[in-house]
Amino acid sequence: MVTRRPNAVIAISIVLAGAILAIAVLLLAQMRDDALRRAQDAVFNVSLLVERDVSRNLEIYDLSLRAVIDGLNQPGVLELPPKIRQMVLFDGSISAKDMGSVFVLDEHGNVRFDSRELVATPLNLANRDYFKVQRDSPDAGLFISHPFNPSGREEDLRIALSRRISRPDGSFGGVVVGTLRLTYFHRLFDGMKLGPSGSMALMLADGTMLMRRPYDPKTIGINLTGTANYTRFVQRPSGDFFGTAAIDHVERWYAFRHIDAYPLILDVALSTRDIYVQWRRRAWIIGTLIGALDLTIIALAILFSQQLRRRREAEEELHELARTDGLTGLNNRRSFEEHLNEEWRRAQRNGWPLSLLLIDVDYFKNFNDLYGHPAGDEALIGVARCIADGIRRPGDTAARYGGEEFAVLLPDTDEAGALCIAGKIRAAVEGLQCRHVASAHHVLTVSVGAATAHGLAIATYRALVDAADEALYHAKDAGRNRVMSYLASADDAHAEGDAVTPDINRRGAD
Ligand code: GH3
Ligand code: MG
Ligand code: MG
Repeated sequence: MVTRRPNAVIAISIVLAGAILAIAVLLLAQMRDDALRRAQDAVFNVSLLVERDVSRNLEIYDLSLRAVIDGLNQPGVLELPPKIRQMVLFDGSISAKDMGSVFVLDEHGNVRFDSRELVATPLNLANRDYFKVQRDSPDAGLFISHPFNPSGREEDLRIALSRRISRPDGSFGGVVVGTLRLTYFHRLFDGMKLGPSGSMALMLADGTMLMRRPYDPKTIGINLTGTANYTRFVQRPSGDFFGTAAIDHVERWYAFRHIDAYPLILDVALSTRDIYVQWRRRAWIIGTLIGALDLTIIALAILFSQQLRRRREAEEELHELARTDGLTGLNNRRSFEEHLNEEWRRAQRNGWPLSLLLIDVDYFKNFNDLYGHPAGDEALIGVARCIADGIRRPGDTAARYGGEEFAVLLPDTDEAGALCIAGKIRAAVEGLQCRHVASAHHVLTVSVGAATAHGLAIATYRALVDAADEALYHAKDAGRNRVMSYLASADDAHAEGDAVTPDINRRGAD
């Protein structure tokens, strides 16, 4: 039973605390996964939203550029009055917010038409990249330029979108070009919720940065080629991963996608810190509570086990006290009776001999009278020690049987063995040389009655006690300080002569 084993209580509490801890760790790990999954969904959705917005606007812009080219190819359009020609060539969408003038350039780069002026200001743009690309490659399609700033004002940063005008014979006939302010992307990015350290970036496929959140004008136009993140962006049309930004060195979860049909790459990222900030707070709280709970469980278990141990020790002590004689430390009579009963049955079962010694101090009343009761007690302690020292085998039991009477139970010991031990005890007491002037032997002595049950002659353990008692009586009678054995086989059971041990012979010779 657990309550009998204090250490088991602690072990169970540790297992319980461990189980609670394991469950908490499992839950926290799941909560962490959930946090990441939510972040993945969020960046995916934002990237999709932004991609759609950007690609729709570029498409509208592109359609406008195509409409200009179509208009130029219509016979008679160029002959129309300037105001009508403007309306035919440049539809309303071009005047939308963030979109600058649309120019039609001739094959030398001179501005022929300006969407915002009836008469175009003379200007040559042949050195611009969007002109050169369209002039040199007939199938450049919609070309998106690097960012540039015509006025030097930050809000004027823009990109140009251009298309080639091909003559009917396929030769280069000029360029239609419009500009788009980067503030469009800036506003679009700012409208998204991305946490305090989230980031978004739109770059050209060649790695040129067009817009980044958090916004820093210095980052516009820089080239990201060679950075770890860009290298991953160009490997696949879309994807996601944990990465660290080259610009601010913040670790984030990235979702990127190439914007459909345009040479643009968009990335949206949530910082690892933001992703786990709530989880971390909860993990701290849960972890602290679980830790405290576990410690409490273990502490209570330790307290409980200490109480159990104390109770068990107290019980054992009580049990021991109930079985021990207070003066001599030997078994008391009640405990001895239990042993006797037990050993008797064992001896009967196994057919082993069982011997009993009854030991009585000689002339002890006189000793008390002469030397006082405390000295008598001391003498009894000395006798008890001689008895305890005289028995060696684990099954042997010594007890204080009455006032100055002791008993020794010797399992699996025959008569000869019993007499041998009895003789040793008797000699040991005599060897104490405890002065007793009122004794015939002048020192404190004991008389011992020995009886051995073997076979059927002694039928009950009571009979064994009586036999030893009788032998003791005869030892007293024969002059004390001697050992006498009860011989069951003898006819009258008082055959002192036969029972006299060598020890008695010696004493008898005195
Ligand atoms: P014998 O046995 O040799 O015939 O003589 P005895 O004087 O020993 O005989 P008896 O059995 O009449 O005396 C026993 C005495 O032991 C009586 C009592 O004073 C003493 N006694 C019994 N128990 C104790 C004890 O616990 N302490 C002390 N000091 N004396 C005890
Ligand atoms: Mg007595
Ligand atoms: Mg006595």
